Amino acid sequence: MRFQTHMDVALAQATAAAERGEVPVGAVIVWQGDVIAAAGNETRARSDPTAHAEILVIRDACKMLGVERLTGCDLYVTLEPCPMCAAAISNARIARLYYGAADPKSGGVAQGARVFSHPQCHHAPEVYDGINASAAQDMLTRFFSGLRG
Ligand SMILES: [Zn+2]
Repeated sequence: MRFQTHMDVALAQATAAAERGEVPVGAVIVWQGDVIAAAGNETRARSDPTAHAEILVIRDACKMLGVERLTGCDLYVTLEPCPMCAAAISNARIARLYYGAADPKSGGVAQGARVFSHPQCHHAPEVYDGINASAAQDMLTRFFSGLRG
């Protein structure tokens, strides 16, 4: 399977997460045009409430590059990051954040805590929202309606 965009890789990670019974959110980190880390949510599998897709790819990318800051890296995630992940993205010095669906319930970028707009935020990435938003939203809607049904 050939992916068209980096967000497609993130969406594939979200699909894989749903198949594992995890909330379907996927993320990738791109460095110099290449995907160097890709993950979906693993909070259930790891029994770890911090195992959001964004946190996992930041950890993997830092390990791979042997650095503590991902200056020059881009992060793609299918859903608006929560405040925890937004803070991690800031600490990691991610250059650009691309996300899919808005998250009115738990998002912390365009709503809620608005972490990057906070005076204490030392680094804010460039933010591009709404990337393949309907695909990401449909996946979440299907997942949660399945849980209710
Ligand atoms: Zn998060």
